[in-house]
Amino acid sequence: MKTLIAANWKMHGDLSWAAKPKAFRDAHGPQNTNVEILICPPAYLIPALVKGSEGQDILIGAQNCHQEQGGAFTGEMSADMVANCGGRYVILGHSERRALFGETDGLVAAKAKSVLASSLVPIICVGESREQREAGDADEVVGAQLKNSIPESADGHKLVIAYEPVWAIGTGLVPTLEDIASMHDHIRGILSARFGENIAQSICILYGGSVKPSNAREILALKDVNGALIGGAGLEMDSLCAIAREAL
Ligand code: PEP
Repeated sequence: MKTLIAANWKMHGDLSWAAKPKAFRDAHGPQNTNVEILICPPAYLIPALVKGSEGQDILIGAQNCHQEQGGAFTGEMSADMVANCGGRYVILGHSERRALFGETDGLVAAKAKSVLASSLVPIICVGESREQREAGDADEVVGAQLKNSIPESADGHKLVIAYEPVWAIGTGLVPTLEDIASMHDHIRGILSARFGENIAQSICILYGGSVKPSNAREILALKDVNGALIGGAGLEMDSLCAIAREAL
């Protein structure tokens, strides 16, 4: 599978950022064909980024969506709406959404079901807190999140999992390579038990949490790490693509 390098722009950016993909390509030329670059901007920028990335080999996605496809849900956007404006992926269950907006595994699963029904790819985020890791509960916590955040109806196709230890997000802290490898192996094992070995091997598992150009190579080289979900270092195309270049 291709390595997926996904940037989560969170609540950053303005309309001028739609020019970033083309400006980057003009300066740096085509990318490694084994790598897929995805940018998930704030929802209002999706159409502009879709237009701005035309012909640039850069995909655009959303950071969230509602679990229903339409109706009286003030302030929300459905998966169909993401698809309608050209988005291809939807990040779901990011730890900020879980912590700040009260999203539960069940809600994430309902959203993922809706995303799949819209022929988009959900990127389901899981990850333990610092306390949970220190208590030795990381595997169990992540296992339960995975079990309950992937919708029951899912068959494992068109699914991306992002392992993001909460304590590593935006902190500059990164787990040891052994710990990342061990958690990705654990996640692959759970996927294999649920969907069978062949499908599990085809599911892209991203690592996220303080990935930057200087640590990307060793993280991306780990078995069962199929890409990265990037916050801070994904805001600038230069560092995003420097990370992408480390995926050899
Ligand atoms: C994130 O927000 O998902 C993330 C991984 O952020 P950062 O790369 O800044 O740690």
